[in-house]
Amino acid sequence: MSCATLATGLLDLAVARARLIAAAEPLTGDECLPLASAAGRVLARDVVARLDMPGVDNSAMDGYALRVAELAAAGETGLAVVQRVPAGAAVLTLPEGGCARIFTGAPVPEGADCVVPQERVTRDDAGRIHVAGEAKPGANIRRRGEEYRAGDALLPAGTRLTPAALAMLASQGIAEVAVLRRLRVALLSTGDELIEPGIPYEAGRVYNSNRVMLQALLAEARCEVIDLGIIADTPAALHDAFVTARDSADLVICTGGVSVGEEDHVRPVLERLGGLVFHGVAIKPGKPFAFGFLDDGTADGVPLIGLPGNPVASLVGWQLLALPFVHGCQGRTVGPLEQFRVRAGFARRGSPGRTELLRVTLDWQSGQPVAFLAGGQGSHMLRAASQAHGYLMMAADTDVEEGHDYPYLPGGQFHD
Ligand code: AMP
Ligand code: MG
Repeated sequence: MSCATLATGLLDLAVARARLIAAAEPLTGDECLPLASAAGRVLARDVVARLDMPGVDNSAMDGYALRVAELAAAGETGLAVVQRVPAGAAVLTLPEGGCARIFTGAPVPEGADCVVPQERVTRDDAGRIHVAGEAKPGANIRRRGEEYRAGDALLPAGTRLTPAALAMLASQGIAEVAVLRRLRVALLSTGDELIEPGIPYEAGRVYNSNRVMLQALLAEARCEVIDLGIIADTPAALHDAFVTARDSADLVICTGGVSVGEEDHVRPVLERLGGLVFHGVAIKPGKPFAFGFLDDGTADGVPLIGLPGNPVASLVGWQLLALPFVHGCQGRTVGPLEQFRVRAGFARRGSPGRTELLRVTLDWQSGQPVAFLAGGQGSHMLRAASQAHGYLMMAADTDVEEGHDYPYLPGGQFHD
C-alpha cells in the first residue's frame, strides 16, 4: 500500500487529482480557425501584439478637443469650433486658436492636448465654446499604446479562448487563430440494465443518463466525442469495445462496471489490455473511479478513465478528477480547486473515511451566502445535482453543524 492510500484502501482526493494532472500529456497538433469558431478552444501558440493599443491618441468622451493654454488665453471670449472629428476620421491637425468638436473613439487632432466633455461646455450665439471648471492637459485622451505596445505579450499558449480573449484578438485585426486540435474521447456506457430515453419504460430497466451527461460535458470541454453507446456486461464485449476505443481516441471514458462486483468488468479487462494506475478514491459520491491505460504499442498507451455508474458519482468523478486530466491533455494549466468558506444552513452527519461533496444551493438573502442541501444526496439522485450551485466539501468523518463555515466549491469552475 502506498503512503497516498488511506486505511480504507482508497486514494485521497488531492492525491488522485495530482496524479491525474501529472499523467496528462499535452496534445500535439493544431488547427487554424476563424475567431468565431474558436470560442472555448485552447491557444496553440503565444499571441504577441501586432499593433499599439490604442493605435492612435483618441478621445474618451464626446466633447471638444483643444489646447489648454489657448483656452486659458481666450478667457471670456471662448474658443471657436473650427473642426469636426467623428469616430473613424483621419488624424487631423488642430488649427491654432480654435477647438474641434470630437466624439468618443475619434483620433485627437495633432496639437490638441485635452478633451473637455460636452457636459461641461456651453456654446454662445457666435458658436464659441465656454468651459465650466478646469481643463487639464491630457484629460480624456486615451494615449496611443497606453494599454500595450506592438510586440508585447498578450496571451500565452494554453489559454482558453473566452469571448473577451476573442474580442481582444479581433481588436488587433487578427481574423484566425491557431488552436490545439480537439481531444478525441471515446465514450462507453456499460450496463445490461440500460435503455435509451425514448424507449418505453420497463420495470427494472434504467434509462441511460450518463451518456447524454458526458456527451454534454465533453462538448462543453470542446472534446470530439466518439460515442460507442451501451456495452453489454460481459468481459468479451468490453474487451472489444476498449480495443475499438483505443484505436480511435486519445482518451477513453466509460461509466459503470467499475466497482468490485462480479458484474463489474472494467478493472479486469483494463488490466488485461494495459494497466491500472489507481482504483478507488475517498470521495462520496465518486468512490469507484479507475484510471489506467490501454496498451497500443506506444510508450504511454491510451489513457482510460472509468467513472462510476451512479450518475451523480459519475458527474463528481468527471468534475473533480477527469476534467483536470482533460485540461492537462489540452495544454491548459490546471490550478487548485476554487473554494471559499460558506455558512451551513443545515446539520448533517459526516461520512466515514471519505470526503463528502454535498450538493448545495447558496442563499444570498442575508447578504452572505448560506448553504442549504439542494435535495436528496444519494449518488443516484440527479434532482439535487441538477439544481445545486456547488458542493460543500466536508472532510471525512466531519459532521456539518448549522451556522458553522465549511469549504464550498462553486459549480461554475467546472464549466469553463
Ligand atoms: P455499476 O457501477 O455498473 O454497478 O452501476 C451502479 C448504478 O448506476 C446502478 O444502479 C446502475 O444501474 C446505475 N447506472 C450505471 N450506468 C448508468 C447510466 N449510464 N445511466 C444511469 N444509471 C446508470
Ligand atoms: Mg453495471
